[in-house]
Amino acid sequence: MSFDVLQSPVQFLQQVGICAGQDWLREYEAWFEREGQEISDAVDRAGTPWLRMFDRWGAREDEILYPPEYWRMLKHGYRAGVLWRVFEQNSLIPAYLLLYATAFYDAGLACPYTVSLSTIAPLSKYGDEELKARFLPRMLQRDDSVWQGATWMTEIKGGSDLGAAVETVAQHDGNKWRLTGDKYFASNAGAELAVVAARQEGAAQNVRGLSLYLVPRRGEDGQLNYQIRRLKDKIATRSVPTGEIELRHSEAWLLGQAEHGIYLILEVLNLSRVANCMGSVALAQRAIADAYSFAARRTAFGKPIFEHPLLRRQFEDRLQRLHAASRLGWEAVRLLDKVWQEKPPYSESYHLFRLVAHLAKYWTAEFAVQTAKWAMEVYGGVGTLEEYRVERWLREAMILAIWEGTPHRQMLDGLEVMQRKGAHRLLFQHLARKAPEAQLREMEARVERQLSLPEVEREGTLEKLFNDLASFTADALSRDPGR
Ligand SMILES: Cc1cc2nc3c(=O)[nH]c(=O)nc-3n(C[C@H](O)[C@H](O)[C@H](O)COP(=O)(O)OP(=O)(O)OC[C@H]3O[C@@H](n4cnc5c(N)ncnc54)[C@H](O)[C@@H]3O)c2cc1C
Repeated sequence: MSFDVLQSPVQFLQQVGICAGQDWLREYEAWFEREGQEISDAVDRAGTPWLRMFDRWGAREDEILYPPEYWRMLKHGYRAGVLWRVFEQNSLIPAYLLLYATAFYDAGLACPYTVSLSTIAPLSKYGDEELKARFLPRMLQRDDSVWQGATWMTEIKGGSDLGAAVETVAQHDGNKWRLTGDKYFASNAGAELAVVAARQEGAAQNVRGLSLYLVPRRGEDGQLNYQIRRLKDKIATRSVPTGEIELRHSEAWLLGQAEHGIYLILEVLNLSRVANCMGSVALAQRAIADAYSFAARRTAFGKPIFEHPLLRRQFEDRLQRLHAASRLGWEAVRLLDKVWQEKPPYSESYHLFRLVAHLAKYWTAEFAVQTAKWAMEVYGGVGTLEEYRVERWLREAMILAIWEGTPHRQMLDGLEVMQRKGAHRLLFQHLARKAPEAQLREMEARVERQLSLPEVEREGTLEKLFNDLASFTADALSRDPGR
């Protein structure tokens, strides 16, 4: 594959056999080249948007003040079909293709689309007919009137151990619920509809006590139903406003059965973790593409730096790993597309998906961070300057590794699904004809040995194995892209 292909997200996806280069996707990319990238750069430079909490007469309004171009850029993805195509084609594939193209230009902008997708998915699966009729059409609009979603779980005491940290309480109120509590990391603050984790009064103080609720921005009386306490100043992902949210007796609807809440929460996370995988690969592609443009023209010791053997080899290795990362991320998308409509109890395919998604989230995010750092090094000193974008890719990548579950969370959840569901055996069956037999057996034996260790050692020594398993899976998948 030539390095020039990397300048286009759609061409790259085509080259690695992930998409057919559909016209609507090409048009979406072309729009970013024409105007979207410039808007995105300006939004990043401007930093945290303003929050206007009150109108001039003192009424609470919580309006987020981005420049008008931001809203044009944001709505462009919804118009292109990041939500409505899922329901039109009964498949998640178009959404993830659009998310990839988005993240190539602006990894943070992929967040509002992802959390909106993660809102309509549980609504369409678990909402009753009345709830669906009320909210779904709003989110499937193809014009600027489209509603956005959000997924708010994390509170001040921490995001990894939700079972212990969620203190938001749900009280029954007729046919609905009232939520009271504070969400500390709430991306897409201001969204018209959010899915929110809360605990019913008297429910267990662990993950089993959590349930999932739908919370609209405005209540049935038209008043604000939640308030934004403040917006966060972040190092990156400035194209999505992340805020602190106050729920005070806020109107809410329970999704699914209360005691299944943790499953619903994990289903929501499935969608965003997989989006994070594709976002990470897209960001890595972008970083390599930019590094190449620079290295092909910057000269040192009499020739372009790209032509020096040491750097050239690094480029070739990065390209090979980008290919592997794209196959691993896309496998997570393909498997998710098959299982996302499942409800508990889940099939074996679902457990296989979960393991692949944990491996992919862990590995692609790490690859994105390392690649963005390397791209900065290729740029040398100018790479550290804010005016040439490459430092931005590193800032964005740092967040990709943390939200949707840190690397530790991915490793430990991956371990759990292997231990409890035997997902590693499903994975090895899945890779049977793709990986060389001897390597497959060796990896299988290593995993079994790890699982048989005493608990403290099993967890304490997990990272090397998990990293190798992810890398092995990515390599096996990239060996056999045709299916
Ligand atoms: C920009 C941004 C936007 C976000 N948006 C949202 C959002 O919209 N909705 C939402 O719900 N959340 C959101 N989050 C929160 C995010 O999901 C959490 O930051 C993440 O899950 C980690 O939680 P934490 O930050 O509280 O870290 P903690 O859970 O406090 O963890 C701290 C450290 O301890 C490690 N750790 C924890 N447990 C273990 C263990 N058993 N073994 C080893 N290490 C462990 C963690 O991996 C981490 O390194 C956002 C975060 C960011 C940065």
